[in-house]
Amino acid sequence: MARLAFIGLGNMGLPMVRNLLTADQLVTAYDLSAELMKKAEQAGAASASSLSEAVANVDMVISMVPAGPHVKAVYQGPEGIIAKAAANTLLIDCSTIDVATAREVAAEAAEAGFEMVDAPVSGGVGGAEAGTLTFMVGGSKAAFAKAEPILQAMGAKIIHTGGSGNGQAAKICNNMLLAISMIGTAEAFALGRKLGLDDQILFDVSSTSSGRCWSLDTYCPVPGPVPSSPANRNYEGGFAAALMLKDLGLSQSAAGDTGAKTPLGAKAQELYQEFTDSGHGGLDFSGIFKMLDGDI
Ligand code: NAD
Repeated sequence: MARLAFIGLGNMGLPMVRNLLTADQLVTAYDLSAELMKKAEQAGAASASSLSEAVANVDMVISMVPAGPHVKAVYQGPEGIIAKAAANTLLIDCSTIDVATAREVAAEAAEAGFEMVDAPVSGGVGGAEAGTLTFMVGGSKAAFAKAEPILQAMGAKIIHTGGSGNGQAAKICNNMLLAISMIGTAEAFALGRKLGLDDQILFDVSSTSSGRCWSLDTYCPVPGPVPSSPANRNYEGGFAAALMLKDLGLSQSAAGDTGAKTPLGAKAQELYQEFTDSGHGGLDFSGIFKMLDGDI
């Protein structure tokens, strides 16, 4: 049984804490929100009155906060995790953040003698609740080996993606590909409709032909062909377009930093910006079909 501190009890963090408790881990929870702290306590976690108290006497710290600046705020500075955790505490950041910040914080942790992995997830709130997340883990082999058993309590697939920052790299490359393939799929259906092609017939052809991809055959952006896809419930739930836009911002800034050419990633970012600016950032990202089809 490990003693864990879990920082960040939002949409993802709270259900992850519940799964750790189900797996009989000792969890001390901390969030800036008193309401979320209460929910974690009700689930069986111990609560701490400050970040430094939460991380002072544990084997591992897991963080799940919104973005790079929040990760810096919790790890760095005189009251941060690196200053306040006990020696040999393993640090695991599961937030989705930019690669540069992940590497900067891990390097600072290493300098202070800590092992740290970046372990962003895919699978969304549903995966967090069901304990079926995929973790993409960047860090040393030794740190991965220590983190893996605890991540298994929250996920179904735990993949070592290389050194520090490579978890974030895998996450943003995958999501850039997903955004591009979703827009491509949505464009094909929008054009098909204009040409008088039935959605189901285009699906039957493309899902068994060279155009097939996950965005088409598992998460189809038009209602009908795949009953479980968000298109069948007015694009409610699923993976919010605003979060996809966040990830596209991370991949474009990484492309800028490294000189990688990602013209379709840039276009995908532009289209998701337009979609969220029109007030639809809360819809599932496949809802971009409505915009491409001229429905909004
Ligand atoms: P959220 O906003 O619901 O939760 C984040 C929590 O972090 C909040 O409760 C906030 O109070 C807390 N927090 C922020 N700064 C803090 C600090 N200094 N100390 C303590 N707590 C602090 O966000 P979320 O949806 O749970 O997402 C968390 C991360 O997971 C993000 O990086 C997101 O991109 C990523 N992610 C989210 C999803 C999803 O579907 N929601 C899917 C995959 C990955």
